[in-house]
Amino acid sequence: MLHEQLRTSIVRHCSAMLQAGLTTGSGGNISVRIPESRHVCMSPTGIPYDNMRTADVAVVDTHGAVIDGDRNPSSELPMHLAVYAARPDVNAIVHTHSPYAATFACLREPIPAVHYLVGFAGTHVPVAPYATYGTPELAAGAVETLGTNFQAVLLANHGLLAVGPSLERAYAVAEEIELVARICFQSRAIGSPVILDEEEMRRVIRKFRSYGIQPSGEGD
Ligand code: 13P
Ligand code: ZN
Repeated sequence: MLHEQLRTSIVRHCSAMLQAGLTTGSGGNISVRIPESRHVCMSPTGIPYDNMRTADVAVVDTHGAVIDGDRNPSSELPMHLAVYAARPDVNAIVHTHSPYAATFACLREPIPAVHYLVGFAGTHVPVAPYATYGTPELAAGAVETLGTNFQAVLLANHGLLAVGPSLERAYAVAEEIELVARICFQSRAIGSPVILDEEEMRRVIRKFRSYGIQPSGEGD
């Protein structure tokens, strides 16, 4: 099967997204781009994650033409393809309806730097304008708001779009931003959180670039 490992990994991450409470039913979607073949593996539309199988994940070209897969690709394929076209650094996209991030999306309020982990997305998480799900208008607004630097945006009255150079990273962005959204909600519920300034967030983002890098292990 074409790109079998990657498609299986998408199914696993979809299932993890459901287990972690980052979405419900068949909400949200995940894709991975393979730069060498210019193919995109895209989760199917409307299949509850509990029932999703590897062959359900569609393989499409950069214009969205289906190359392989038993099901139609996600209704948000236009948004995923538009992000890949605009951001050569992005090779994976995770879209969720995670409840705390979606709460800020419904308020159309950016998530501020209430906790340093917002650095997974940038100095804050901006809000893309509302448009009906699956439309080119939603895709255009998301791409414009992501710009060249953000790794996540809120989709007004909808959810979260997280991106990264790998599936693992894009998934981690979605997870961490949901945590930050929850912390923001909770801290506002019992007080007035102190927001980190932009200079500090730029320092955090720089430091993240080398976070977790271990010595090469030469001579072990
Ligand atoms: P799909 O099932 O078509 O991926 O749609 C879910 C969704 O989140 C739409 O925004
Ligand atoms: Zn959605």
